[in-house]
Amino acid sequence: MSVIYSIATASNSRTNVGVVVRVRPVNNSEKLGGFRNVVQVVDSHMLIFDPKEDETFFGSQRVRNRNINKKANKDITFIFDHVFNETSTQEEIFENTTKGVLDGLMNGFNCTVFAYGATGAGKTHTMLGSQYDPGVMYRTMSELFKRMDDAKEEKEFSVAFSYLEVYNEQVRDLLANVGPLAVREDGCKGVVIQGLTMHQPKSAEHILQALDSGNRNRTQHPTDMNATSSRSHAVFQVYLRQKEKTASLNPNVCIAKMSLIDLAGSERASATNATGARLREGQNINRSLLALGNVINALANPKSKKSHIPYRDSKLTRILKDSLGGNCRTVMIANVSPSSKSYDDSHNTLKYANRAKEIKSSLKSNVVSLDSHIGQYALICEKQQQEILQLKQKLKEYEAKNTAPEALHTISLQKQTEFKR
Ligand code: ADP
Ligand code: MG
Repeated sequence: MSVIYSIATASNSRTNVGVVVRVRPVNNSEKLGGFRNVVQVVDSHMLIFDPKEDETFFGSQRVRNRNINKKANKDITFIFDHVFNETSTQEEIFENTTKGVLDGLMNGFNCTVFAYGATGAGKTHTMLGSQYDPGVMYRTMSELFKRMDDAKEEKEFSVAFSYLEVYNEQVRDLLANVGPLAVREDGCKGVVIQGLTMHQPKSAEHILQALDSGNRNRTQHPTDMNATSSRSHAVFQVYLRQKEKTASLNPNVCIAKMSLIDLAGSERASATNATGARLREGQNINRSLLALGNVINALANPKSKKSHIPYRDSKLTRILKDSLGGNCRTVMIANVSPSSKSYDDSHNTLKYANRAKEIKSSLKSNVVSLDSHIGQYALICEKQQQEILQLKQKLKEYEAKNTAPEALHTISLQKQTEFKR
C-alpha cells in the first residue's frame, strides 16, 4: 500500500500559542519565613506581579505600609489566556487547557502542552499530580479514551505512547530504562528517536502505571526537589492514528502526536539571571531549556524566517521540532510561587510566558490519504458488503421499533389529538 502524504489545511487561520499561568499555594517554609505575597491574581485572565502595597491614612498623616529603603514595587500587570489562583483544582486546569487541545489531536493536529517554571513552582504537580489527585497527563488520556469510545462506530483508532527524558543533553527511554538514544529527522516521519519503545495502552489506568514506573527511572524522582531532578525534562508522547470506518479505496488516515512535557526547572536557564555568580554556573545551565527559550523568541518574532528557528541547538528542541510553532497547537502552563522568596524566578517565568503569547502557528491537519494497492480491492468490496449488511440490519431494527405496538399506540393517540384540534 502506498502512502501519499497530503497535508489538508483544515484552517488557514494562524493561532496563538495558548499561555496560562498557575499560581500554587504558599508552602510552609514560605509561610514561616515571613515572605510576602508578590503575585496577586485579579481575575481569571489577569494578575499583578509585585503589586503596589496598600497605603494607609492616619488623620492627615500618610503612612506607607512598606520599608522606604526598599525599591519601589514593580506593579506589573500581565494578561494571559487563563490565570489560575492558589485554589484552582487539577480538574479546572485540565478543563481549561488540555481538553481543548485534545480537539486538535482528534482533528489530526500535533499538539504540545508543557509546564514551565522554576523548581518547586508546581510543574510536576500540574502534569503528573498524585495517584489521588492526578494531573493533566492522566486526565488527558482518560478523556482521549472516552472520545475514542464515542466515535468507535465511525472510526478505527490505534494509539501508542512513549515516555522519555532529556537529561544533560542525552535522551533516555524511561519505559525501557535505556539510553542515550539518537535523534534524527526523517523526511516523511518527522522527528525519529532511534530505539524509543512504543507502547499500546489498554486503558488510562495502564498509562498511569506506565508513567509511575517511568518516573522511577528518571534521573531523579520527580518529587525530590533537588538540583539534579530540576535539570531533567520528561516528555510523554501519545500517537493517535485514526481511519474512517467506511470502506473506500482512498480512506483518509489521520496521524497526530500529542506531547505532554514536564520541563526542567527554569531557574538556571534564565538569560537575565546569567550575570555575576549565576554566570559562573554557566556549565550547569541547561542547554535544552535555553534553546527552548530561543526557539520561543524566534517563533514569537514576526521578522525571523522559518529557517532561522534554532531547533537544532538542543535535544529538546530537536525532539519538539514538529510540535512547537508551525503545524501544531501548543499550550504553555507557566507555574509560579506567589511568594517573594521566589521573586526573580516568578518574574522571569511571567516574562517568558508573556513572550510565548506572541508565537503564532498556522494549523495544518496531518491527513494522509492511503492509495490502496489493487490487491486490497477485494478486501474493500468485502468490507463494503459487510457494512451494507450491518446497515440493513440497523434499518430493520429501526423499522421494527417504530412499528412496535406501543409506538403504533402513541402515533394513533397523536393522530387523534391532531384530529380533535
Ligand atoms: P516542580 O515540579 O515545578 O519542581 P512540584 O510540582 O514538585 O514542583 O511542586 C513542589 C511542591 O509543591 C510539591 O510538594 C507539590 O505537591 C506542591 N504543589 C505544587 N503545586 C501545588 C498546588 N497547586 N497545590 C498544592 N500543592 C502544590
Ligand atoms: Mg518537578
